[in-house]
Amino acid sequence: MIPDRATAALTIDLAALVENWRQLRGRMGAGSAVPKDCAAVLKADAYGTGARRALPALARAGCRTFFVAQVDEALSLIDLLPETARIFVLSGPPPGGAREMVAHGLIPVLNSADQIATWAETCGQTGIRAPCALHVDTGMTRLGLSWTEARALVADPGPLAAMEPVLLMSHLACADTPEHPLNTRQLEAFQAASRAFPRLPASLANSSGLFLDPAFRFDLGRPGIALYGGNPTPGGPNPMGEVVRLQGKILQVRQIDTPSPVGYGATHHAAAGRRLAIVGVGYADGYPRAAGNRSMGRLGGWPVPLVGRVSMDLITFDVSDAPETLAHPGAWIDLIGPGYGVDDLAEESGTIGYEILTRLGARYPRTYLSDDASTASVREDPIA
Ligand SMILES: *Cc1c(COP(=O)(O)O)cnc(C)c1O
Repeated sequence: MIPDRATAALTIDLAALVENWRQLRGRMGAGSAVPKDCAAVLKADAYGTGARRALPALARAGCRTFFVAQVDEALSLIDLLPETARIFVLSGPPPGGAREMVAHGLIPVLNSADQIATWAETCGQTGIRAPCALHVDTGMTRLGLSWTEARALVADPGPLAAMEPVLLMSHLACADTPEHPLNTRQLEAFQAASRAFPRLPASLANSSGLFLDPAFRFDLGRPGIALYGGNPTPGGPNPMGEVVRLQGKILQVRQIDTPSPVGYGATHHAAAGRRLAIVGVGYADGYPRAAGNRSMGRLGGWPVPLVGRVSMDLITFDVSDAPETLAHPGAWIDLIGPGYGVDDLAEESGTIGYEILTRLGARYPRTYLSDDASTASVREDPIA
C-alpha cells in the first residue's frame, strides 16, 4: 500500500524484468550448436531498480551468472544467491580484499597483471584454486589487460597456475552505434584473445552488443540496461518491456488568471487561462534538473509539458490540454512509464537512460510487481 501522504511512487515490474532476460537469453541461443548462456548485470543496485529484488526473480527464471561492480555490492547479495549460481565482481579484488572474496566464493574479474599476482598469491596462501575471469581490453582503454600483458600471459601462463580462470571477457565501447568501426576492431581483437585462451568460455556483448552481428555473442551475454527496459538499439524501436514506472502526485492545481512567471528564474510564463499542476517530485528524487521546460508527463494518458525549472522537491506541468476533471490534488502524473520511457526522459534532459535509472530516488515508496504469477500480483517491499 502506498501511504496517502506519499507524493511519488515507483513501481518495478519484476515480471517484465524476467521477460526481458528471457528475450536476451533467446538471442544467445539463436543458431548455435553449443549451449550458450546469458548473465545479468546487477551493479549499482540493479541500475537503481533494487538488486535484492532483481536477483531472486532472475534466479527463479534460470539465470545463474551475475555481475556487480564492487565487492560490497556482491556481499550484499550473496545470501540470496542459489548454490548453483555465481557472482563476478567487475573491478576485481580490492586492496586487501582478496581473501574475503575467496572466503565468500566471489569471483573477481582480473583486470591487470597486479590483480593476477594478488589473486595468485591469495590462492597460494589459502590453498584454494579459486575461480576468476580474465579481462582483456580490446579497445576501450578502461579496465583490462593490455594486449601486450595478455600476450605475456600466454607466453608464460605461470601466474595462472594457482587459480582457476573460468571466463575470458572484454567490453565494447560503441555497441549502441552499430556502424562504428571500433566494433569490428574490438571483435577481431577479442577473437584473437579467445584463440589465445582456447579453453575459456568467452563473453563480449553487453545489451547493445547482443543486437549486433551474432559473432559478437560468444558464450555468455552480459546485459544490464536492456533488462531494466532501456533501449539497446537507440534510434530504433525499443524491443524491451518497460520495467520502471515513476508517478508524481499533484499537490495543487493553479488556474492562471493573469500572465504569471513560473518557478525559479522565471524561465516560463504562463498565459492567462492556463492550468498548472504542481507535483511533489524534484531533482532530490533523481528527476533530472536539466529536464526543465523540456520533458513531458502523462495525466490519464494525456501528454502534459513540464514548464519552468525543476525544483528540489517540486515540478510543474501545464495540464490545460488534459480534461479538467483529471487534474486535481491527489491525482497522479506519470513521469516515467507507459508511452514515455526512461530513454525519452533521458533524451529530453541531455543524458542516457542509465543515468536516469541509477539516480532513482530513495524518498518515495517502491512497489514491486511480482514475477511469480502464482502469488498475488502486487507485493509490498519489506526490504527497502
Ligand atoms: C555495465 C557493464 C555491462 C552491462 O552493460 P549494459 O550496456 O548496461 O548492457 C557489461 N559489462 C561490463 C564490463 C559492464 O561494465
